[in-house]
Amino acid sequence: MKFGGTSVGSAERIRQAASIVHEHARSGNDVVVVVSALSKVTDLILSALNSARLGQGKEMEEGLKQLRQRHEQTLGQLCQGESKKALAAEVQATLKRLQEFCSALLLLGSATPQVMDMVLPLGEQMSAHLFTACLKELGARAAFVDSARVLVTDDKFGDASPDLEATRRQCREVIAPMLNQGQIPVVMGYSGATPSGQVTTLGRGGSDSSATILGAAIDAHEVWIWTDVDGVLTADPRVCPDALTLPEITFAEAIELSYYGAKVIHRKAIWPTMERGIPVWIKNSFQPQRPGTKIVESLPPSERAVKAVTAVTEASLVTLTTRRDVHFAEVFGRLFLRLGHEHVDVLFSTQSSSEDSLGLVLRQPDTERVVHAIQRLFRTELKHGVLNPVAVHRDIAVIAVLGSGMKGTCGILGRLFSVVARNNVSVIAVAQGASELNICFAVTASRVDDVVRAVHHEFLSPGRESLAAALVPPRRER
Ligand code: ASP
Ligand code: MG
Repeated sequence: MKFGGTSVGSAERIRQAASIVHEHARSGNDVVVVVSALSKVTDLILSALNSARLGQGKEMEEGLKQLRQRHEQTLGQLCQGESKKALAAEVQATLKRLQEFCSALLLLGSATPQVMDMVLPLGEQMSAHLFTACLKELGARAAFVDSARVLVTDDKFGDASPDLEATRRQCREVIAPMLNQGQIPVVMGYSGATPSGQVTTLGRGGSDSSATILGAAIDAHEVWIWTDVDGVLTADPRVCPDALTLPEITFAEAIELSYYGAKVIHRKAIWPTMERGIPVWIKNSFQPQRPGTKIVESLPPSERAVKAVTAVTEASLVTLTTRRDVHFAEVFGRLFLRLGHEHVDVLFSTQSSSEDSLGLVLRQPDTERVVHAIQRLFRTELKHGVLNPVAVHRDIAVIAVLGSGMKGTCGILGRLFSVVARNNVSVIAVAQGASELNICFAVTASRVDDVVRAVHHEFLSPGRESLAAALVPPRRER
């Protein structure tokens, strides 16, 4: 069971989360807990570190003060007496370490990703200690586990990938004996360590991955991700108030959904459990009695072709055009190689040979990096006009319409773009993958909510699909 930041955001939230765990353990399940830092704490640590690097001592101290207050307050509200003393000692030791690192960075004026990774998981270190203490208060047998002892990764600091076999061995040594003795291990999320013990992080929001990696490593029957929403919804409920919780989706759908903006589970987190066919639940720790969403290997075909509509609201389109006499595949091939090295996710790309141009739709924060990479990589080609200057179209949004039932169903694209057109929105770029699991298209950012609402209304509003089906029965391709 993994608990996200808001699910452990205060003493009250931690108590609620711990009682969920305790209840499940008491009814005969072996439970391993993975926790995120208290909500917003990783952001605070990061900004204290950045202030330190930039020589802004006052801002750094201010950040550290907030971190101290937040944890001391939570601690004070969580435990009393002897257990409070032991817990306070742990938390104080971590806060001191944080202070020392920041002071060192203030002196050095810089920090490598490796150094950042030594500090960023300290939020998880404190929340895991708080959670362990709370479970003990409830009468459970619980033990803190440093993620560096169990989760083995490569050395890509700041964005490490797991070594599942090595993690499995570590879990056999550390986690299994605890479970055998009836203890509940409480593991720090977000982080791990290289085989030689250097601390790494799995990327922001990486605690979901910690849970699925550990779940796969211990052959868990299920992984439960506790968050602050009811599960995976048909759309963002802030945009579409009539969005519904999906009872079940497939791993493939979950990957697409999280890649294109649904925030319930981290987009890199699905793989480890998918490979082993371990179901993942998304559940609301604020409303634990609600069913949530179950992510499974496969589902029988449903009558709904479209399952969800999501949006990446800050995106950009980078277009590269070559001169006609150039073999563009070679040019674009080099570019994709480079993007791979830089770990850039392309939301989707469009290319047709008649145009000699390539359109890359990127997340907005990646845009500058990609434009620079192109300018460096193709310096000569740009200078000699083999490539035209890079065109950047900002302020666009990407909408993804997803569902495995779209495969082979006729007429979805027609209906979709009719709806978009009825809203007087023009489509800037579009792609439908060969898997037919999703249709992605880009529109002006300012219209994204209107389009999402209209698409949701067309395909997903209650009763709507059966109405449409009655008017135009869905036809399968022959
Ligand atoms: N605390 C980390 C973050 O905010 C990891 C996580 O919460 O998943 O990125
Ligand atoms: Mg989080």
